[in-house]
Amino acid sequence: MNSKLNWLRAGVLGANDGIVSTAGIVVGVAAATVAREPILTAGIAGLAAGAVSMALGEYVSVSTQRDTERALLGLERRELRDDPQAELEELAELYENRGLSPDTAKDVARELTNHDALRAHAEVELGIDPDELTNPWHAALSSALAFTLGALLPLIAIVLPPIQWRVPLTVAVVLIALAITGLVSARLGKAPSSSAIVRNVVGGGLALAITYGIGHVVGVAIG
Ligand SMILES: [Zn+2]
Repeated sequence: MNSKLNWLRAGVLGANDGIVSTAGIVVGVAAATVAREPILTAGIAGLAAGAVSMALGEYVSVSTQRDTERALLGLERRELRDDPQAELEELAELYENRGLSPDTAKDVARELTNHDALRAHAEVELGIDPDELTNPWHAALSSALAFTLGALLPLIAIVLPPIQWRVPLTVAVVLIALAITGLVSARLGKAPSSSAIVRNVVGGGLALAITYGIGHVVGVAIG
């Protein structure tokens, strides 16, 4: 349940990243040249680089997290084997801290220990579901996919329309898309949506203004 929500949120953030960074690239290049090929080439290169870098970053961070979780589970397993009595008392204490009466906490701890001691300790003590460790390959692939989907939007918006409409149309498409991703991520996080939308749209607009300005300066300097 909770992990599904995290996946959705990661997907929206990845798409948001793809939209902003690719839009920045194509708008920046479009400020320097009217030729379609360099805009398209830069946009596709940016999409590929961004997707690979997202996948790599996600793979590394999720792998590290999974290694940590596995090490913690291993430690817990050893403690349960070496000193089951102390572990039982520890579990009862944790339930007591959560608000159960001492007697109830002892009963709960004993029953859960008989059922699946490692799972009980993993969940209460470490906050880990031992069967639900995130797969780094899944995380890498899905963030690359989310980034690519987001990146396709400004890429298509900049190459399809006639020259004079390229930049304004791309900016409009991007700002609308950022309003939507801002809304969705606010909804997923149960945060107020209006401020999330404003932050996301203003931030994206600023990013486009900066890359357009830099592209224009570079275009004038080398053109
Ligand atoms: Zn324990």
